[in-house]
Amino acid sequence: METERRFCDRCMAKSEHVLIVDEEAIVTYKKKNAYRCINCGHKSYRRSLRPSAESVY
Ligand SMILES: [Zn+2]
Repeated sequence: METERRFCDRCMAKSEHVLIVDEEAIVTYKKKNAYRCINCGHKSYRRSLRPSAESVY
């Protein structure tokens, strides 16, 4: 499972987040990924830290 260390709005601290691959999320939130906080389970949509190949063009 892919995780990233990100700031959680609910924990008000940096925590490990699981990257959720969700087909619906990709359609609704273009170029955004869903992350779920491991500590509190808070789900949020964030742009990926790593630039995707699409953004290069
Ligand atoms: Zn949290």
